[in-house]
Amino acid sequence: MKIAVASGKGGTGKTTVSVNLALAAQEPIQLLDCDVEEPNAHIFLKGSEIQEKVVSILVPEIDKDKCDSCGLCSQFCAFNALLSCGDAPFFAPELCHGCGGCKRICPQKAIREVERRIGVVKTSTCGKISLVQGVLDIGVALAPPLIRAVQQEVNENGLAIFDAPPGTSCPVIATVRGADFVVLVTEPTPFGLNDLKLAVGMLREVKIPFGIVINRAEENDPLIVPYCAEEKLDVLAKIPDDRRIAEAYAKGTPAIDALPEYKKAFVSLLQKIREAA
Ligand code: SF4
Ligand code: SF4
Repeated sequence: MKIAVASGKGGTGKTTVSVNLALAAQEPIQLLDCDVEEPNAHIFLKGSEIQEKVVSILVPEIDKDKCDSCGLCSQFCAFNALLSCGDAPFFAPELCHGCGGCKRICPQKAIREVERRIGVVKTSTCGKISLVQGVLDIGVALAPPLIRAVQQEVNENGLAIFDAPPGTSCPVIATVRGADFVVLVTEPTPFGLNDLKLAVGMLREVKIPFGIVINRAEENDPLIVPYCAEEKLDVLAKIPDDRRIAEAYAKGTPAIDALPEYKKAFVSLLQKIREAA
């Protein structure tokens, strides 16, 4: 089973939920950190690295001797990575998504594809947890191909958690698309509610089942609880606004290691996810 943990915005406690869920599992589990621009699960799971793979995409290289400057490739490129200005097109690699369309469309066969490195996928073990994390190279803004490379490491027959990037843009959609169930982490603030609404809209669009976890939950919550009731959303768990969780987080210690009384809550959350999926 593949569970994605996502949130409409950063700083809601998504990694706290991912890491503690992984620690609460009784069986071997994979935690795939798909927040490739800022992976941080390794801060809480200090394991030994066993593998590092370089990830590349194919980008065009133009043979200026064959190119007749027709401009078809730059007209075709939806990402403006090719710019025609009279001569052979200028290529901006940082804008290229590696779709391969320009090579196919070139009438002169003047384009060949070459590899461009975008980042690495690192695998480490920490007890029963296998941590897989994607790390984008500095200056590279192409998260989805690296997220897909991280997800290729998933054991299809096992239990896996995808820690999604924050927000509702392409990298998040690339992450949740591979999941059987999504846990949306939110907080009882106006910003939390606004971004939760966006995330709910996104998940309804892609038709993946999901449930809500309210982090830093308050006893009288006038925002998230009424919204979830109105929208008939399943609130799977409420994590209290406990300063000790924040202190443990700041020291790089998972909540259930620092505060074992929370273990039962995360074991129960994992059980509810399994039942809801
Ligand atoms: S489509 Fe081919 S021939 Fe035309 S400008 Fe691009 S590279 Fe040159
Ligand atoms: S591979 Fe695709 S994205 Fe890259 S330059 Fe060619 S058409 Fe544009």
